[in-house]
Amino acid sequence: MTVSAALLASCGGGVNNTTDKSGDFDYTVEQFADLQILRYRVPGFEDLSLRQKELVYYLTEAALQGRDILFDQNGKYNLTIRRMLEAVYANYGGDRNAADFKAMEVYLKRVWFSNGIHHHYGSEKFVPGFSAAFFRQALESIDVSLLPLASGQTLEQWCEEVFPVIFDPSVMPKRVNQAAGEDLILTSASHYYDGVTQAEAEDFYDAMKNPADETPVSYGLNSRLVKADGKLQERVWKVGGLYGQAIEKIVYWLKKAEGVAENEQQKAVIAKLIEFYETGDLKTFDDYAILWVKDVNSRVDFVNGFTETYGDPLGLKASWESIVNFKDVEATRRTEIISSNAQWFEDHSPVDSCFKKQEVKGVSAKVITAAILGGDLYPSTAIGINLPNSNWIRSVHGSKSVTIGNITDAYNKAAHGNGFNEEFVYSADELALIDRYADLTDELHTDLHECLGHGSGKMLPGADADSLKVYGSTIEEARADLFGLYYVADAKLLELGLLPDADAYKAQYYTYMMNGLMTQLVRIEQGKDIEEAHMRNRQLIARWAYEHGKADGVVEFVKKGGKTYVKINDYAKLRALFGQLLAEVQRIKSTGDYAAARDLVETYAVKVDPILHAEVLERYKRLNLAPYKGFVNPRYEVVTDAGGNITDVKVSYDEGYAEQMLRYSHDYSNLPSVN
Ligand code: ZN
Repeated sequence: MTVSAALLASCGGGVNNTTDKSGDFDYTVEQFADLQILRYRVPGFEDLSLRQKELVYYLTEAALQGRDILFDQNGKYNLTIRRMLEAVYANYGGDRNAADFKAMEVYLKRVWFSNGIHHHYGSEKFVPGFSAAFFRQALESIDVSLLPLASGQTLEQWCEEVFPVIFDPSVMPKRVNQAAGEDLILTSASHYYDGVTQAEAEDFYDAMKNPADETPVSYGLNSRLVKADGKLQERVWKVGGLYGQAIEKIVYWLKKAEGVAENEQQKAVIAKLIEFYETGDLKTFDDYAILWVKDVNSRVDFVNGFTETYGDPLGLKASWESIVNFKDVEATRRTEIISSNAQWFEDHSPVDSCFKKQEVKGVSAKVITAAILGGDLYPSTAIGINLPNSNWIRSVHGSKSVTIGNITDAYNKAAHGNGFNEEFVYSADELALIDRYADLTDELHTDLHECLGHGSGKMLPGADADSLKVYGSTIEEARADLFGLYYVADAKLLELGLLPDADAYKAQYYTYMMNGLMTQLVRIEQGKDIEEAHMRNRQLIARWAYEHGKADGVVEFVKKGGKTYVKINDYAKLRALFGQLLAEVQRIKSTGDYAAARDLVETYAVKVDPILHAEVLERYKRLNLAPYKGFVNPRYEVVTDAGGNITDVKVSYDEGYAEQMLRYSHDYSNLPSVN
């Protein structure tokens, strides 16, 4: 599971005037379409031991070798389209400033960003801003030997087959279709199935499942389901199987990493992953996941493999991704302090004592520094990851929860001065609060949410958490957010040395209310309701607190110069309201009170005030900010002595976006165009 930074990134994430120790490091790279490209630093890399640096280096190579896999998973024409566009981009001799060429450049940059021709977030197909006639003429103008045609294929044939995929809006319109009632597989462009209907796929996997099996493997996770000779069969992603050319390269670098592992435990993790890639055996994958979750003492850690299933409409098949990271020891101290005081927080919460846990254990989420992002985490990445995804492994062996400190930091730094807070924050007083504290209190709120909030409270005997049904995840996120909001204002945090003074929490309260009442609406189209669970939860809390504090004027909407602002008049009363709502939300969860969950969500979380919404959209549009962000990676180079021995690994940050993408396409082009 991943925690997305989409909101934080688009909604300012806090103006930050703290002195940047990195001097004039430029976090922004470029902006096009609805995307902004940033770069991130890897502080602390220089301080790793030579062996650890070497390990990181080998793992970063393994992280880049799988790039083509994701392109093909996202759609069967993605690789050939990317390569054809790259050929034109590199070799076109015509007017590169003409509107058509410029539009093609933007299209290619979007294809790189999405690892395919569909939007990475909304999953709808891009509308090219250039004409088919231009593209054909551009292709014809280039020496045919420079075009990535399959052997025996003419350019004419390629255009015939692929142009509709690019230019006809009715062909493959969505990467993942979730619209109930349609055949979700046949109407999704993702390449996890071929020639198979939804019903056939469901029957195929239902037949594999044994309800009595308490440790089921993740059926279907690492294969494409196809129909061949009238029979359904899995084409497994492994060495010697589908995507084998890329997986062999991954394994090559993993073996080098295995040779410089920090300890025996980590060595066993890497060896097991290699075994999985070589066999494709899902039982081996579970063994690997268990070893991985238990490896908590190594400084360096990584994810490399078929991991998240958001791209499969049936939620079975996993996209390939990788991240290499090392523990941020200083920042992790913060989460450890919180976790080790978990019982105190549980005992003192405003929740009815019958819903409290007698014995609560905090999850120690570590803070990590990302060294590289790959596959489905590149260029758009999560800011938090919680793995493995297998339910039985999570309940028997636990999970590892991480937040990616240097990525969050890059978002914050890049948002500094982008004008968002200046536009939406009520006055200089609130701006000063945010300047001073928001980065810190936002991180603390996330830590409280993740380390304590989700783990707090208990179900009453006989009550079923699933009884909240479609409202379950909104209620669950509200519970964790409220736990964080209630405690971020507690004197205990000062006592633990986690906050500098008693005013700091106000920065979190202000940004939370402004976001929940107003600014998160920038992500909703005019006329639409709020659907996503995290967004619903935020509006639920903000609206409920606003309505229930109305008589006392706790929070109000104020007009200034024709614009609407959120103003908080009584922070202490607002905290009491959060406590009150936390108690109620915990009661709903503990007792499985479906009717109360439905009423809360439907009353406060779903509907949008159309007039305020229009105003927010208009103000946001004038700021000309990109709602989605992604990152270029740093570049790693080994330094060797005369004997070829590695003496150091250097990290640099000067690569541009197109430059990096073209280098990756050149150096890590491991798969044929058709797979
Ligand atoms: Zn959560």
